[in-house]
Amino acid sequence: MDAVTRLPSRAASPMVIEPSAASVVAGHGASQSWRQHTLKSSIGCVGVGVHSGRRVVLTLHPAAAGHGIAFRRTDLSRTIAARYDNVVDTRLSTVIADPDWASARVGMIEHLMAAFAAKGVDNALVELDGPELPILDGSAAPYLFLLDCAGIAEQDAARPIIEVTRPVRVTDGAAFAELAPLRGHAMRPTLELEVSIDFAAAAIGQQSHTLRLNTDSFRAEVARARTFALAQEIEQLRAAGFAQGGSLDNAIVVDGATVLNPDGLRMDSEFARHKLVDAVGDLSLAGAALHGRFVAHRTGHGLNNRLLRALFANPACWRQVTARSFDAVAA
Ligand SMILES: [Zn+2]
Repeated sequence: MDAVTRLPSRAASPMVIEPSAASVVAGHGASQSWRQHTLKSSIGCVGVGVHSGRRVVLTLHPAAAGHGIAFRRTDLSRTIAARYDNVVDTRLSTVIADPDWASARVGMIEHLMAAFAAKGVDNALVELDGPELPILDGSAAPYLFLLDCAGIAEQDAARPIIEVTRPVRVTDGAAFAELAPLRGHAMRPTLELEVSIDFAAAAIGQQSHTLRLNTDSFRAEVARARTFALAQEIEQLRAAGFAQGGSLDNAIVVDGATVLNPDGLRMDSEFARHKLVDAVGDLSLAGAALHGRFVAHRTGHGLNNRLLRALFANPACWRQVTARSFDAVAA
């Protein structure tokens, strides 16, 4: 299948709104831009998959405007668009698969996808030679560093933006995830997120974090927050063949009131901040920048994906917006 960005189809033609010159704030990078962006150069890394334990070679390449983000399994010669409707498994990480070949899967995409969203990267081809991205240190920070090193290039094309126009909500018991229109009139693509969690383990407990997504806020507040696991879950996962590459070097491990990592936590509310990173990555599978407000309690990859499916299933809840070129407006 071609790795072309396919926005959900709908009859109405895109609305065009004009950003004012004051709407682009210096320092926010490309994440809130009206133009599409890709990488300036290719860059790669080598790491281990947290569940497979396999060594994986990962290379990020620039891609043309309109391409979107896609993952290429070099060992299988299959390319999979990073889209919510290609998600096939959300139990341990967000996994996408080729709709025409279900065994061509790529898992643990969420931290790299979050870094792409934070940097405003619309178009990239990600090559890897196995079924799972490297876990690296368990956070999005190493991926943000890779994108910093590659550099970001503006492209001569307007960015498609999905504006949330009515609230949409999915629930699972006491857990919920919701997207709602952004209050006020921020005339640039803006995603606000508010994530709260509630764990019986005393080391986690109740935490929340709120973020207006841009490159600077993502880097400063959430990028270094690591993935986490409960000690009692790890033996079950290992027995089932997962977490083969997991260690205290790439995850926080919690046992009741105790954090088992010798150096403890990197920041307060690290668990809630990591859940927010996961949500940024999962929501970026909309295939275009989202303009709206995300509020979630005890959410996870499954609920995040169900939320996008619910959004795009109801044309009353969203519209596609494009903008005239900022240069033309500013001239
Ligand atoms: Zn995560």
